[in-house]
Amino acid sequence: MHMTEGRQDQGAAFPLAKLRDDAADRRQANRAIGVSAVGLALTGIAELLIALLTGSVGLLGDALHNLSDVSTSALVFLGFRVSRRTPTVRHTYGYDRAEDIAGLGIAVVIWASAALAGVESIHKIISNSGTTHVGIGIAGAAIGILGNQLVARYKLVVGRRIGSAALIADARHSWLDALSSAGALAGLVAVALGFRWGDPVAGLAVTGFICHVGWEVTRDTAHRLMDGVEPEIIERAEAVAAEVPGVLHAHARARWTGRILRIEVEGWVDADVTARDADNVGRAVADAVEAAIPEIGSFAWSARAA
Ligand SMILES: [Zn+2]
Repeated sequence: MHMTEGRQDQGAAFPLAKLRDDAADRRQANRAIGVSAVGLALTGIAELLIALLTGSVGLLGDALHNLSDVSTSALVFLGFRVSRRTPTVRHTYGYDRAEDIAGLGIAVVIWASAALAGVESIHKIISNSGTTHVGIGIAGAAIGILGNQLVARYKLVVGRRIGSAALIADARHSWLDALSSAGALAGLVAVALGFRWGDPVAGLAVTGFICHVGWEVTRDTAHRLMDGVEPEIIERAEAVAAEVPGVLHAHARARWTGRILRIEVEGWVDADVTARDADNVGRAVADAVEAAIPEIGSFAWSARAA
């Protein structure tokens, strides 16, 4: 769980019993993301310079993709920093949503780079302009493949060591990005073999790739900002809450704010139960829900008289 430490005293009648202390893991993850971002930035800049030299739009698209991935890491980091701020009287739930807002910024960056890569590719097809220094261009695409592969392997090793699903998913993303670089490479090889259109066609393929990433980021961010949650979380919370002695019936709601999973349970108790006992039932529900859903970051309970 991230950033729940120090939060539990605020407004929490039901502090979660145990919070996994994964500060060391988090440091390792942050380090892996930082080192990867520097590696990708160098890769992207090298590709961008070679794209400008050669006029290759496939390489341009791939460079923009890599650089937008770097800005993604920067925004995630920024959102992460802001989200750690403690709640105030104006923002009583804290600043976790900063990460979701950062997601919107990331989506804008990705769509803008897709638009630029797409426009340049179409322009190159229409103007039928050529590619120069094709050998250097091929080397640039090879740098793209290598850079992404190295970053992917690094994230995978660290992700497996600390058991971070996010980092492993990120490694997969970088692995797929190496495919995008391979697309740019294929286009340039086609040009070297005498097919002028190879590069702009590769440029369009890379653009499609960027659009795909843009769509995924936009969908996920919108889902969270709309308080979307995995239905299994609700099913599990309601099932375990209903089994706690004293609970006659339970309804659950949940949403993510940034990385914090907030679960609210409304439980029906016998009308004769005292407020103190209803409170104790709530504590038992908090423990049960936490045991069943370890990713929980915040819990709220309200008792209803049946
Ligand atoms: Zn990417």
